[in-house]
Amino acid sequence: MMKKNNPISKVKSKLQEKGLDKQEIQNILIEDARTGLSVEALKRAISNNLFYVQGKFPEIATRNDYYMAVSYAVRDRILKRWVASVKQYLDGKHRVVSYLSAEYLLGPHLANNLINLGIYKETGQAVKELGKELEWLIDKEIEPGLGNGGLGRLAACYMDSLATLEVPAIGYGIRYQFGIFEQDIRDGWQVEDTDNWLRRGNPWEIERRELNYEVKFGGHVQHYTDNNGKFCSNWIPDLVVKGVAYDTPILGYDVNTTNTLRLWKSEAPKSFDFQLFNAGGYNDAVRQKIVCENISKVLYPNDEQEEGKILRLQQQYFFVSCSLQDMLGIHLRQGDKIQDFYKKFVVQLNDTHPAIGVAELMRLLLDKYQLEWEEAWDITTKTFAYTNHTLLPEALEKWDLELFGRVLPRHLELIYEINRRFMDKVTVKFYGDHHKIASLSLIGEGPKKYIKMANLASLGSFAINGVAALHTELLKKTVLKDWYELSPEKFSNKTNGVTPRRWMVLSNPELTALISDKIGEGWIKNLDELRGLEKFAQDQDFQKAWMDVKHQQKVSLSKKILQRLRLRVDADSLFDVHVKRMHEYKRQVLNALHVITLYNRIKHNPDIDMVPRTVIFAGKAAPGYKMAKQIIKLITSIGEIVNNDPDVRDRLKVVFYPNYNVTNAQKIYPAADLSEQISTAGKEASGTGNMKLSLNGALTIGTLDGANVEIRECVGEENFFLFGLNADEVEEVRVNGYDPYSYYNDNPDLKLALDQINDGYFSHLNTDTFKTLVRSLMFDDQYLVLADYQSYIDAQDKVAETFRDKSKWAEMSILNVARMGKFSSDRSIKDYCDEIWKVKPVPVKLKN
Ligand SMILES: *Cc1c(COP(=O)(O)O)cnc(C)c1O
Repeated sequence: MMKKNNPISKVKSKLQEKGLDKQEIQNILIEDARTGLSVEALKRAISNNLFYVQGKFPEIATRNDYYMAVSYAVRDRILKRWVASVKQYLDGKHRVVSYLSAEYLLGPHLANNLINLGIYKETGQAVKELGKELEWLIDKEIEPGLGNGGLGRLAACYMDSLATLEVPAIGYGIRYQFGIFEQDIRDGWQVEDTDNWLRRGNPWEIERRELNYEVKFGGHVQHYTDNNGKFCSNWIPDLVVKGVAYDTPILGYDVNTTNTLRLWKSEAPKSFDFQLFNAGGYNDAVRQKIVCENISKVLYPNDEQEEGKILRLQQQYFFVSCSLQDMLGIHLRQGDKIQDFYKKFVVQLNDTHPAIGVAELMRLLLDKYQLEWEEAWDITTKTFAYTNHTLLPEALEKWDLELFGRVLPRHLELIYEINRRFMDKVTVKFYGDHHKIASLSLIGEGPKKYIKMANLASLGSFAINGVAALHTELLKKTVLKDWYELSPEKFSNKTNGVTPRRWMVLSNPELTALISDKIGEGWIKNLDELRGLEKFAQDQDFQKAWMDVKHQQKVSLSKKILQRLRLRVDADSLFDVHVKRMHEYKRQVLNALHVITLYNRIKHNPDIDMVPRTVIFAGKAAPGYKMAKQIIKLITSIGEIVNNDPDVRDRLKVVFYPNYNVTNAQKIYPAADLSEQISTAGKEASGTGNMKLSLNGALTIGTLDGANVEIRECVGEENFFLFGLNADEVEEVRVNGYDPYSYYNDNPDLKLALDQINDGYFSHLNTDTFKTLVRSLMFDDQYLVLADYQSYIDAQDKVAETFRDKSKWAEMSILNVARMGKFSSDRSIKDYCDEIWKVKPVPVKLKN
């Protein structure tokens, strides 16, 4: 018997009032029990999942059982919207964005999906009524770290914005079994541990065993002329791998649109090669299987540094081939002509990692679909668009030609032919300019020939973009200069952005509530509305509430630091935050020199009145990058001295927060007062950490590099602590010969700091520990650390002076956030949609 005030009977009587009959009401109730968004429906779903999916009951259910039960309840609700989206897209009438990226640094799913579904509170209540805490379950999730840093995180933000803007899109990538390594700090040094992120299962993916493609490797190519006299190629591989699709639904915020992130896992085509097996080749059969599975086994942990390894090329080709076969399959199943492929799909290359797609689409069109060269090339070059992410020469992809030919013999032929036709044109156009012709060639000459992937991407794409205004300008002047002069119409800028859902609503609910209280919630989907905060920037009560939220976030982070590092930091001190991958160009060393300088001021004058600071570093170093690892050791070593020196008292603390990833970034960004964006000008393509920190109310100390330039333009120069050489000046210093010794010799503070590092002051008098680092700074530093030292120190002193005036700081922080609208990834994606992809939103309706 149902009670009258039971929620179900309430719904029932409402439906009766609407005049629905018994069967209709029954159907709605069943549907609601399955995927309803009320606390009651959620509670029932969670309990059911605990029982029917996990096979557990409350008395014996573990924390992970509960996490799984909640996640499956949420996934059901997303799947309902996913199915609606797929149905909506089924007619095939609209264009689809295909985003090809070797990396997706997604971060944990559960909380984000709750926000985008709009049921964070309801789920919290449901879990509470089941006797557990939602936060406790959210903290249980192991994030999918399928990326290294900014590039992979950008892909994740773009997937969120595409769905939120209701744009049909598929993200394609690799389902690495092991993502970016976990970092631990032992004796001050980084140690790496494998990231076994799938060990407790992954409730967010759906394995699509029926969706699989074969990918060939190695072997040779046979040529013959067919009965019609057509020249044909037949690639006989020596290895065939199967790619199996794993789909993760990506739900937009406050919409039904749910797009697909399709990641490929590599397997052996059959579990055993029976021919080998029967011939007694058991070991060979097993070895084949392992070779196949290895391809999607592990993410290469290099950021901004290329690894010319065979396995890496295999990974790239593997996922690109699966993805293109998948797109062609979708296109042809909808009954469309192969010639119209480019009208259906626009394929964005996230850096050159998927650039082999240009040659692969040519191969599929020529060898599989029998098109003529001109037609195939026309389709291909109307399909691809290319985003460049770097100006660092060591990050530009090059493949040794011989290695390339061994892995992809057919593609090498195709690249030769593409290049031959291209060189014919270029030679006519730039007759006599050998330098230019050589630079445009897809093939580099030297002691060993190599394939230039940026050239393949540039030639094969109808659009080329950089990721910040300065970056795009530098691209046109440097790495892609010849391509710009050849086809200026292909070039445009698309400044990066970040999703305000994860990077504000989810990670900073307190600031979100304060902002929404003042200006409503519209800013979450239209970040320009933050502008409405400007008029409260000088409001004393609002300033206080603003700084209270910041203080609260700093207290939370302090607790985490205490737990993780057993180090007590003062939440009233200035939180000076430098978190990103460890790289010389990002100049963590410059920050370290500032810390030493502050320390020396205290030692020199123990009663000095200074603004207390907590300097927080975090970031992984590529395992093979010795210098970056030495920089970590330098930071932790300075910390050991500074944090334990009784003279310092509470005026200075140095923290190296281990294992920087999305989960930890979400805890750190909201607590920052100061954002360190101090790369050598002209080296950071855009940066997105700068945007996330600024959006969370941190003021920036930075160089005129990447998107810093645009952030400063937007927030106002009076709210930005600028220092250092600009990109032109950096170039000039280099041309005139950079002389680090003169900076060292002329600056007593700098000299003292460097001498201390060199003499083992921070390394128990061991002068070997930082030998290579000091030598690099003093004798061959490409990143001009010493040249910017004094300018940086001066800017830092200005930061501290400003921080003393709490009201002034609050005003600057509020204005800063109010003017960050441009840096939403929604804006970036709109620009891509309008100017490159030419796609329009397709709203998704839910039945009932
Ligand atoms: C945003 C982000 C990055 C990129 O940071 P930058 O400061 O732009 O280099 C790297 N890693 C994680 C986990 C991030 O969230």
